Amino acid sequence: MGGTKIELVALDGSGKEIFRKRVPTPQADYDATVGAVVSLVGNAENELKAKATIGIGIPGALSRVTGLVKNANSTCLIGHDLKGDLEKSLGREVRIANDANCFALSEAVDGAGKGAEVVFGVILGTGVGAGIVVRGEVLTGPNAIAGEWGHNPLPLPRKEDLPLPDCYCGRKGCIEAYLSGPALQRDPDMDRYEERLARALAGVINILDPDVIVLGGGISNVPRLYANVPVLWGPFIFSDQVATRLAPPVHGDSSGVRGAAWLWER
Ligand SMILES: [Zn+2]
Repeated sequence: MGGTKIELVALDGSGKEIFRKRVPTPQADYDATVGAVVSLVGNAENELKAKATIGIGIPGALSRVTGLVKNANSTCLIGHDLKGDLEKSLGREVRIANDANCFALSEAVDGAGKGAEVVFGVILGTGVGAGIVVRGEVLTGPNAIAGEWGHNPLPLPRKEDLPLPDCYCGRKGCIEAYLSGPALQRDPDMDRYEERLARALAGVINILDPDVIVLGGGISNVPRLYANVPVLWGPFIFSDQVATRLAPPVHGDSSGVRGAAWLWER
């Protein structure tokens, strides 16, 4: 589920895509959004004459305390029992995860992070988020915010990083406010963007020490990032050498939906 479109893919037992359909997201209408998901599933199952397990990536998270949606930039979802409502309508268990977590899972299972122990999957798009996969399992955390580095402050702000920009979350100087697509449009100097991305990812490497960092979202299509950023991050990392790889996604735009499917047994 995204803010502008809802896409469904059906995968067979070997992970091969056998059905795909995309519909616009009903705007600011929770009931219609649930209805759109239910009819997409109905379409696919009629077409394929099979019943499926269902995984869904959402631009938000389910609170570990209440089970209700939180931190969603599709704000009509916030505070709703999306999992319960979908399960009632679809008559089965539904698994839901943050969309960046689904991206990271897809790339960890059979994408750029295949075979790696720890994968940090980054979304550089309208927003900046990330997911962490350890030995094939998504790390969620007790607050359901594992990987949400986009709302950490950008480390070591320099003259050109000031004044600290406002972020929609209410804080100032968030990584997202420098590295999102809209932020890059406001300040389109790629040298500066790469240097900021290197500083921000160095902080991740010092804490998590991932084998692979996979970039996703629109900005991941810029090839020079993969050569330049790993050169720039060295001075900020507490290690004599850095074995962490920075990689483009293997599954591109499809990683979110594929990762949602992988919330079930593989
Ligand atoms: Zn923020």
